[in-house]
Amino acid sequence: MATKLSTTGHENRLSRNLAVYGLSADISISDVDVGLKQKHPVLRVADALQTLAAVGKFEGQFLMGHSSSAFSSDAEAGCNMLGDSLLTRLLYSVMLGRVYNSRKAKGKPLSLLVKNLSLELRDAFFNGVELAVGDDVRKYFLVPIAVKGDWPALAKVGQLTRHFGRQAQQKPGHGICHLCLADKDGYKDWHNLSYDRMLQMRVDAPMPWHQEPDLLSAVPIQESHKPNFFRIDLFHTLHKGLFADLCANAIVCSFDFDIFGNWFKGADTVSLMYFLENRLQNELESLDNDASSFFAEIVSALSAANKFMKCIYHSSLWLSKEERNTLLNSGYKFSNSFAKCAQAAYDWGLTRFKYQPKFHMFGELLFQLAFERHHNLPSISPLAFCTQLDEDFIGKVAAFSRAVSVRTVHERTLSRYMIALASRW
Ligand SMILES: [Zn+2]
Repeated sequence: MATKLSTTGHENRLSRNLAVYGLSADISISDVDVGLKQKHPVLRVADALQTLAAVGKFEGQFLMGHSSSAFSSDAEAGCNMLGDSLLTRLLYSVMLGRVYNSRKAKGKPLSLLVKNLSLELRDAFFNGVELAVGDDVRKYFLVPIAVKGDWPALAKVGQLTRHFGRQAQQKPGHGICHLCLADKDGYKDWHNLSYDRMLQMRVDAPMPWHQEPDLLSAVPIQESHKPNFFRIDLFHTLHKGLFADLCANAIVCSFDFDIFGNWFKGADTVSLMYFLENRLQNELESLDNDASSFFAEIVSALSAANKFMKCIYHSSLWLSKEERNTLLNSGYKFSNSFAKCAQAAYDWGLTRFKYQPKFHMFGELLFQLAFERHHNLPSISPLAFCTQLDEDFIGKVAAFSRAVSVRTVHERTLSRYMIALASRW
C-alpha cells in the first residue's frame, strides 16, 4: 500500500497515521550532516531502543542464539540464525550507492554517516541509555564488540590499507590481511595456514589504516586488539568464497575427467558440498589410479568442509571444547587437502584449485580458535560474526526502497521499515 501511496504523495501521512494506531514503530527520524546539501535521515540508536522499550519489545529483541549447546536442539541452528531478521537487527540508516560511491563525494558521506553512528555508540557506552522497562526506568550501557560485514564493507568502514583487493602478483605487496602481514614482502606464503607461521605473520604488523577508524572510538579497546574489532565473515569467506570455490573446482575437475555426463542443478554451497562428497565418493572406484587419488583428495577436502559446516551450524554461541576441536581438526584437514589438490592440479597441468585471499581468511578464522585453545580461553562461534541473516535483513530493507523517488528514498525507506517492524511485533 505504501508503494501505491508513494506515487500519489500520500505515503508520509500514512506512516504518521499508522504510528498513532501502533501499526508503525514510532521512532523519530533525525537528520545528520553527512557533507551533502541535504541533511541525511537516521534512526538514532537511543530513539530506537526507547521506542522498543515503550511498547515492551526491548528484552529478547536481540537474540544471538542459545548460549551453549545444552539448550539447542538439532532442529534449529543454535547461534545467530534465530528469529525474523527484521526483529533481531536494527536499522540505523540507508544510503544509495550512487550517493556514497559518487566520484565527487569520494566516500565522504558514508564515512560521516559512520562517524555519527560511532559518536552515538560512544555516548551509549560511556553515559548509557535510559529505558523505561515495565514500571522501572533503567540505564543500559551498550558495549560494541565487533564490526561485521563482507570484506569490501569492512575495507570501506575501516578504511583498511590491507585487504583482499591489494593482492600483488609481484613484490612489494601492500598486504591482503588487516590482521597480519600476509602477502607483504617476506610473507608471500600467505596460504601457509600453520599456527606457527600465522603467529609469525602478525609479529610487528602495523595498524592496517592510516587513520584510526571512527568506529573504534565507540569503546575502549586494547591497542593490539583493534584490527580484530573488524571481524571475518564466515558467510562470504566460506559459503560465497572458499567452499564455493571447492565446489566449483570439484565440478570442473569432474568435467575435465568426464565423470559427470550431464549437468545438474546445484543448490547452495552447503547442499552442493554434501551432494559432491557422496557423488564423487561413488565414482572413485571407476577411475584409474592417478585420477582416483586426485579425486580421493577432493572428496577428502569436501568431507572435511562438510564436517566443519555441520559442526558450526549445530554449535551455540560459546563453543564447547569438543566443538572447537572438531572445527580445528576439520578446518586444518580441509586446508591440507586443498593444498594437495592444488599441487595435483598443477601436476596435471590444470589451472584449478588456485589460492584466493579467502583461503588466508579461513586460516585467520582457524588461527583465532587455535590461539584461544593454546591459551585456554573460551571461544565464541565464528558464526556469531556471520552476516547470513544480516544479508536477509538488508534484502528486506532494500525491497522497501523500490518504487520510491530518488529525492525521498532515504526517508521513505526508514518509514517503510518502521511499518514492517511494527507488523512483526
Ligand atoms: Zn592474516
